[in-house]
Amino acid sequence: MNKNSDVTYKTMGVQKHIALIAHDNCKNDLIDWIIENKTELSSHFLCGTGTTASLIAKKTGLPVTAYNSGPLGGDQQIGSRIAEGKIDFLIFFWDPLAAQPHDPDVKALLRVAVLYDIPVAMNKTTADFLLRSPLMKSEYARTIINYEKRIKNRVDDISNNI
Ligand code: PGA
Repeated sequence: MNKNSDVTYKTMGVQKHIALIAHDNCKNDLIDWIIENKTELSSHFLCGTGTTASLIAKKTGLPVTAYNSGPLGGDQQIGSRIAEGKIDFLIFFWDPLAAQPHDPDVKALLRVAVLYDIPVAMNKTTADFLLRSPLMKSEYARTIINYEKRIKNRVDDISNNI
């Protein structure tokens, strides 16, 4: 990687680190989808917000790392793991018909997911297409902003004006 390039690449392994989240009205849909795709999902690392993760573990027996419940900061925790490069795939069945107390956190999570160029499925059909992609079985280099360079440039710019 060229240190001066504006972008850098982060390689996702064959085993993806998949975050799974569903709002309450969508939890049954997500559980049904996971049961349908249990074999494929079992070859990846799974995590999720508190209630969603516990339900998945209970209903499917799959191992799932649980963060806090969404309204208690779980979406923000998952966003921070994406920023750290530790989560590289998001399946988030959010409810298009109900406002959530943590709507700002949901928006922030989706923003960070786009920023770090990770695949995001927000409904069953997209999740089906993503999971069946041949790229699920190979490494993939995501393109992300070269933050080291960006921070250095900003520090230089600001310090030159002080
Ligand atoms: P939950 O959180 O899995 O704890 O219900 C999901 C969310 O509302 O973001």
